[in-house]
Amino acid sequence: MTDIVTRRPPLGCAAITLSLFRAALQKHQLPVTNQREIVARTLFASGQLLSADEINERLRDEGTHVGKATVYRTLGLLVRIGLASEHDFDEGFKRYKTRIGPARHDHLICTSCGVVEEFHRDDLDRVQSEVAKQRGFRVLTRQLKLYGLCAQCDEESGAALSSLN
Ligand SMILES: [Zn+2]
Repeated sequence: MTDIVTRRPPLGCAAITLSLFRAALQKHQLPVTNQREIVARTLFASGQLLSADEINERLRDEGTHVGKATVYRTLGLLVRIGLASEHDFDEGFKRYKTRIGPARHDHLICTSCGVVEEFHRDDLDRVQSEVAKQRGFRVLTRQLKLYGLCAQCDEESGAALSSLN
């Protein structure tokens, strides 16, 4: 069970999102190109609903040139591999938003048998939003892991202890 608690520092947000994108491209046997990464990073970093034109403008403002066709293709790719969602507000074009967001569930991990249970609490989401808002922090993802003994292992360890008496 030593591998559950990692001693590595958490990856930076950009590194997490880009590594997810690279892994997804590789899984779908698609080449990872610099231009695709730039488009993906722009969408991930904004957290907003952006159109292809808006992404193009942002890249132009940064002095980066990525062809419009590449922007469209990359956005379509992000939707296909599940890292972005596509929205149509009847504006005559589509908008895209990253699907990498705050975790919708947290985990209980038994350090004895290794069972992992998910739970979701709206009140935790509220606390998270409050904390982030107070500090002007944009949350990209969350990892809450509670380590301990599951009910079964706890009961068994209790029974083992009482049999010693
Ligand atoms: Zn257990």
